[in-house]
Amino acid sequence: MTEEGRTGPPSGEWGAVDCEESIHSLYHYLDGELTEERRRELQTHLDQCAPCVAKYEFETELRRVIADRCKDHVPDELRRRVANAIDHERLKSQS
Ligand SMILES: [Zn+2]
Repeated sequence: MTEEGRTGPPSGEWGAVDCEESIHSLYHYLDGELTEERRRELQTHLDQCAPCVAKYEFETELRRVIADRCKDHVPDELRRRVANAIDHERLKSQS
């Protein structure tokens, strides 16, 4: 009887990074601040850890929504023209 085949990753630890570390890395990853090596370590963790993948997908979705909101920002000039047009219509309807 040998110990061979019984050696796996210690419980709660996957690859080079654990969950806490991978979540921390996630934010840097999304900001594009991770080195190539660090990204690979995080990817390895995500390949094996479903809870972290769920968090990753949530963060990614959240950022996408925020980015979309910012894209819809109305330029001040257009906003002023719309406000003027509304004022104009209001004055007309009052007379
Ligand atoms: Zn994890």
